[in-house]
Amino acid sequence: MTKTVVRNAIQCKHCGEVIESKVSHEFRKCSCGKVSVDGGLEYPRRGFPEHPAENHYEELMEYGEAQGSRNRRITSGNGGAYCGE
Ligand SMILES: [Zn+2]
Repeated sequence: MTKTVVRNAIQCKHCGEVIESKVSHEFRKCSCGKVSVDGGLEYPRRGFPEHPAENHYEELMEYGEAQGSRNRRITSGNGGAYCGE
């Protein structure tokens, strides 16, 4: 089973805005400008002023088995995958 990124998004902890990069080379910045996402689902990247990143954004990345099967996605982290329609 190959896991793919189905959502490349973060929420800024400074302004609270959720930003999402849906396609490659789609660069998004939050409204306060402190954090950014880039790369869409191909090569997800984050921009933030300094480590640790946890001080600046909440990770909202989601993984799934394949594009289009969002009803079987698992959220970020290493929680077990589950099957079943
Ligand atoms: Zn912000």
